[in-house]
Amino acid sequence: MDNTKQKIDHLRRVLDRLNYDYYVRNAPAAEDREYDRMMAELAALEAAHPEFADPNSPTHRVGSDLTREFQQVAHRYPMLSLANTYSEEEVRDFIARVDRETAVPTAYCCELKFDGTAISLTYENGRFVRAVTRGDGTQGDDVSANVRTIRSIPMSLQGDGWPAYMEVRGEIYMPHGSFERLNAERADIGEEPFANPRNAAAGTLKQQNSAVVAKRGLDAVLYAVQADAPVAASHYETLQKLREWGFKTSSAVQLCRSAEEIMAYIRHWDKARHELPYETDGAVIKVDSIRLQRDLGATAKAPRWAVAYKFKAEQAVTRLVSVDFQVGRTGAITPVANLEPVRLAGTTVRRASLHNAEQIELLDIRVGDAVRVEKGGEIIPKIVGVDLAQRPAESVPFRYITHCPECGTPLVREEDEAKHYCPNATGCPPQIVGRIVHYISRKAMNIEGLGDETVQLLYNNGLLGDIANLYDLEVEHLVPLERLGRKSAENIVGNIAGSVEVPYARVLFAIGIRYVGETTARKLAAAIPSIDALMAASREELLEVEEVGGKIADSILAYFADRRNVEMIDRLRRAGVQLQAVERARLSEALAGKKIVISGTFDLHSRPELKELIELHGGTNQSSVSKATDYLLAGSGIGPKKLETATKLGVRIISEEEFMEMIGGEMLKIQQTTLF
Ligand code: NAD
Repeated sequence: MDNTKQKIDHLRRVLDRLNYDYYVRNAPAAEDREYDRMMAELAALEAAHPEFADPNSPTHRVGSDLTREFQQVAHRYPMLSLANTYSEEEVRDFIARVDRETAVPTAYCCELKFDGTAISLTYENGRFVRAVTRGDGTQGDDVSANVRTIRSIPMSLQGDGWPAYMEVRGEIYMPHGSFERLNAERADIGEEPFANPRNAAAGTLKQQNSAVVAKRGLDAVLYAVQADAPVAASHYETLQKLREWGFKTSSAVQLCRSAEEIMAYIRHWDKARHELPYETDGAVIKVDSIRLQRDLGATAKAPRWAVAYKFKAEQAVTRLVSVDFQVGRTGAITPVANLEPVRLAGTTVRRASLHNAEQIELLDIRVGDAVRVEKGGEIIPKIVGVDLAQRPAESVPFRYITHCPECGTPLVREEDEAKHYCPNATGCPPQIVGRIVHYISRKAMNIEGLGDETVQLLYNNGLLGDIANLYDLEVEHLVPLERLGRKSAENIVGNIAGSVEVPYARVLFAIGIRYVGETTARKLAAAIPSIDALMAASREELLEVEEVGGKIADSILAYFADRRNVEMIDRLRRAGVQLQAVERARLSEALAGKKIVISGTFDLHSRPELKELIELHGGTNQSSVSKATDYLLAGSGIGPKKLETATKLGVRIISEEEFMEMIGGEMLKIQQTTLF
């Protein structure tokens, strides 16, 4: 008996921890199937031993995504999870149970299970009021500012017939294209990539800066309405209503009247889903009649009128031949598995990603093992397990490398980081080449004509040792190189010379300080407008800059502590590269002579961005409201004192929308053009 209690306690502890990693950190520490297996084991133990029941057990609770950074709002109607299964048998059991309990012919609405994060959108009198995450099911985080940036979500509804108050429920997801772009950008600045599109969507929704969210390409699909009275008699009709009101709904919805039709739907989408531009992890089967849904009710965790059938990711078993280690631009080491070629989801797979040392150790992956390879949302398949029964007798545990495979430097692994790094930033060949490639890339200095291969060629020929060497290149150096004619050589040299016009903020991004992405570089350049001042800045001064935390501050300090970087920057300076911010030309005189105070947080811009916009249009930003103030630009959470003073002094209070109208801009367009 004691043993059972221990097992139950252990599973509850592990599942609580996995929930935290998954919902709050957005970094799952286990595969979903393993999590679901443990949850099923705990549920079975609790059912067999009611004496150990606990209402706080993870089996009774909706996994919570609540965080401290957002305001919490209660859901008027609870937001539940879904009962799930991986077996067709259990789907049939579900249908049999519903048919038994309802005792009338029942139609089922089958839908895809979008793999994103649940959202509740409140509309009052047809206007968007707020967006709240599922949270713990009774209250969630208010992420309205972030959700407003998702263009497919209507701010006011079309047509008519909507209830005065309703909560529209759906899923926010990240399409494959956005996901791949985001992970490439993260890898570029040395950030850990998101494990999958679901975690990327959930992580993005919890960003503090909605301008960052706007750039990440989230989308939404809606699939339910909660209101005091149903908006239609069936779920299918509810979806039609949502469509009429301007919401994006799934086109893969199908009404089924028998278990056979449901199975055919599941089997069809299990294959067809690979063609979709977003991730789905199953099908959801819902009783169509709203009246029957109400009769069937819900448990504390999930409705009793629906079940999710989870697709099994396509897997193949093959042999692990060897492991290569790639060194990225930031020195991050990525192990890559070489496999005996195997067919998987329509392609032949030869290589698979292995993430990091921890994963290899956790799964005890060894060279020579029969490994299970899976294709998830990512293009590159991954190894998810080992078939121990097929392990060769002579197999030995895998030893992770301790030294850089490219330059022999001992590797380091920072606390809280899964990856190993080669710290020899200025002497390790792939890091040098990677940094130059980053410097010339479109988003950085945008030097056209020079591709990755040419950079490698120039490096191999001793013509490029760091980014500053670009400015020493001459046409005569380039012409003798393979594949380069005089015309292209002249173009390249001309484009390099032209790059001295690139503004400082982009130069700061281009020099490739670890963790300093485009946005951070912009904030840094706005707050500390020259590289000399940045070099002299203390950790405390760096921390005062918006978006700069300890990790970024330390990385900046480490970068400038390296004499070779300082020397390289001096050569950039001599080449005429912009190392300080230049006053930008005014965009208009729309706010000439106007004094404006900003208070609160805004949907589309950060406060420094608004300040910049005020100045670019001829206005002055003031910190406190006085008689001389013309406008108080008010966001949400505006300081009550400022509001009171403004009202007393008769200062006009304007919203971000009105402000954008005053400077004659369509909101998002303006935002994009002011990025640098
Ligand atoms: P879930 O994701 O399995 O199912 C419920 C959710 O499905 C709803 O909240 C909704 O957001 C979503 N959904 C998508 N399409 C839908 C549709 N058409 N209709 C209705 N809902 C739809 O449940 P959950 O509670 O969010 O998460 C539990 C699951 O998450 C587990 O079963 C497990 O697979 C995974 N998980 C994994 C770990 C891990 O460590 N790997 C940890 C926690 C949870």
